[in-house]
Parts: sequence; structure tokens; C-alpha cells
Amino acid sequence: MQVNQSGKLTSVCYDIRGPVLKRAKQLEAEGNNILKLHIGNPAPFGFEAPPELLQDMIRNLPDAHGYSDSKGILPARRAIVQRMEDDGVTGVDVEDVYLGNGVSELIVMTLQALLNDGDEVLIPAPDYPLWTAAASLCGGTPVHYLCDEAADWAPSLDDIEAKIGDRTRALVLINPNNPTGAVYPRDVLTGVVELARRHNLIIFADEIYDRILYDDARHIPIASLAPDLLCLTFGGLSKNYRVAGFRAGWVVLSGPKEHAESYIEGLDILANMRLCPNVPGQHAVQAALGGYQSINELVLPTGRLGEQRDRAWKLLNDLPGVSCVRPMGALYVFPRLDPEMYPIEDDMRFALDLLEQQKLLVVQGTGFNWPATDHFRVVTLQYADDLEEAVGRIGEFLHTYRR
Ligand code: PLP
Repeated sequence: MQVNQSGKLTSVCYDIRGPVLKRAKQLEAEGNNILKLHIGNPAPFGFEAPPELLQDMIRNLPDAHGYSDSKGILPARRAIVQRMEDDGVTGVDVEDVYLGNGVSELIVMTLQALLNDGDEVLIPAPDYPLWTAAASLCGGTPVHYLCDEAADWAPSLDDIEAKIGDRTRALVLINPNNPTGAVYPRDVLTGVVELARRHNLIIFADEIYDRILYDDARHIPIASLAPDLLCLTFGGLSKNYRVAGFRAGWVVLSGPKEHAESYIEGLDILANMRLCPNVPGQHAVQAALGGYQSINELVLPTGRLGEQRDRAWKLLNDLPGVSCVRPMGALYVFPRLDPEMYPIEDDMRFALDLLEQQKLLVVQGTGFNWPATDHFRVVTLQYADDLEEAVGRIGEFLHTYRR
């Protein structure tokens, strides 16, 4: 008997770990060395976890073998409340905090608790594709609003407004952004808040990269500008603290909750159903948030992340027909290929060809729900010399693609 996947998965797509990665694994198994620029996982690139975070987790391990409260352990939730207050998000209580197995689990949980079939969620294009995949999986309809490359990838307020309809329930904002590296200025954020206010939208703010900021970039949590709106702010340890494998993330509800009792009850049911998130990972949260913030050094121009982002951005921009907006945060560059010079019809094919010919792994722009086939994403976690090697290979490959 044929065993088919559920119809719920028909429009669910997550290409960061899709067919191109599958082919890369085959090539590796055949003995090829693949240069990987495809995933935002700091540890394999020699980024170490902050030692005090590890020490705290190890110290607590003997007490971490049972389930915890479904929402997470209290010291972690207290530390997250404190962090939100320090960042200007007021009126938050430990009961408003849910820990999860990474932000990933919480994205699915919070959308699942909200969406009825056909409810619409505004999601940026390009996006971190889990948002689109999860909205579809939960029966919702992802509606993409455009971020404008000519405006440093800021969300187009006009496009958002044009796409709000009767069934729009929520708006997702990813700031700092994956894949564009944009960090949104205050006026853009107030514009988004104003739209959400006028149209009764819940704001889902994915701020997992909020400490990975370059040059003079400043991150403003959108919830701090919208105390009168229900906001869900997502954060975690995977990126700022470089422990993606610990699966430690959180979501914080802020703003008025009187009208959201039913939604919160739904969230509680789902939190209870998964029993609790990984407990050892939760024990790393307090030490991470309260301790010395080593990320602040890594993002300096002389720090590893700052230097690598600069090198990748400059070298890519120097390639003929390639342009990219300077990333101000996160771990990515999202270059544009001039379509006059590189007429790409299928950008997954482009990424596969790059892989076959140059043994280099990137993710194609449509994998981030970008509507055209003229972008790809480069992760800037590799050492600067490896990034230089990678961009050299991209340059050679593009030569073969030129019109
Ligand atoms: N949100 C964004 C924007 C991301 O880029 C990622 C991972 O790359 C996640 C969420 C998921 O992170 P986590 O490791 O906490 O599940």
C-alpha cells in the first residue's frame, strides 16, 4: 500500500534544508569537499559558546533530568522578563514568557494556536521560510509583503497596506532580518505599528538576531513602540550566544491581553501538550542573558563576525553584475544578480549547478519566498579566507552563466 504524506504538507516548503543540501550530502559521501555557506549555525565554524553559559548548564545538569513547567523554568523566564524591560518593553510578567525548543517550535505553536483555515498572515518577502511553511501547515494563508531592496530592504508600508484584507490576523516582522541583514529604523517600525493598530493585527516579531548588529546599527524591539498592541517577541540562544544545538528559544507576549484570553488558553494547551522544552538548554538562559556579552566584541569591525561580514559583502559587490545591500545585522548577505547579465530561469537549478561545478553550497533566493530568480543567500560564518575562496568560486561560476 502506498503511504502518502498528509495533504496538510501540500504547500509547505523549507528549502534551506531542501534538494540542494540533499545533493551536497551525496557529493560529500562520494568524497567531495563542499564549502558551505548555507546555514546559520555558528558552532561548526569555530564559534565557541560563552564559557559561563556552559558552566551554568553543566552545574545544573544533575537537576535537569525531569520535565519542567510547560512554559519553562522560572530563573530563565525571569531573566527574559528583565531583558525585555532593559530593552524598553514594559508590563511583561513571567507568565507572559514561553520557552521552546528553539524559536522554531514556538513559531509553529503560536501560529497553530491562532489560525483557522484560510486566515491570512502577512509575512515578508524575502523571509526566513519557516514562517511561510508554518503558516501553511497551520491551515493559514501566507500573504507576502515586499521588502524594498532600493530602501535597504525595509518593508514596503504601501505593499503591506495593499495586502491587508478581512482575513488578515497577524503581521510577521523579522528584525534584524534573515536573509537580507537589514535592521529597521524607527520610522519604518512606527509605520508598521500604525498599520497594525489601524487594522487590528497581532505583531509577531522575530528578533532572534537582536544582538548581532554592525557599525552604528541599533535594534529597536517593535514591542517597545507598541505597548497598546498584542505583540509576540521571539528570541533565543541559537545566534547571539552561538548554541543553536541547545534548542533554547522563547516568545514573550506584551501589550493588552484582555481580548486574547482564548488565544492564550490555546497557547497554554499547546505548551502543555509538548510537556516542556529541553530542560538543560533552559538552564543556559539566565547565564547567557545576565553575563558578559561576548557577542559585542564579535560584531566589531575587528571581531570575527564584523570582519567576515565586511569581507563577504565587499568581495561579492566587486563581482560583475552582482550587487548587495550592506548587511547591518544578522549573519547573511543577500546578493542580487543583474538579470540582464545572468538570465536565470530556475534559481534552484542555479544553486545546484554552482554546487556541482564549484563544490559550493548556497541557498537560492526563492527558498526565502523571494518572487524573482535573481538572488541567493550567503552565510557569513565561514572564516574570512574561506569566504574569499568561496566568492572566488562564485565569480568563476558566474562567468559560465553570463549572457
Ligand atoms: N528565526 C529566524 C529569523 C532564523 O533565522 C532562525 C534560524 O535560522 C530561527 C528563527 C530559528 O531559530 P532556533 O534555533 O531558535 O529554532
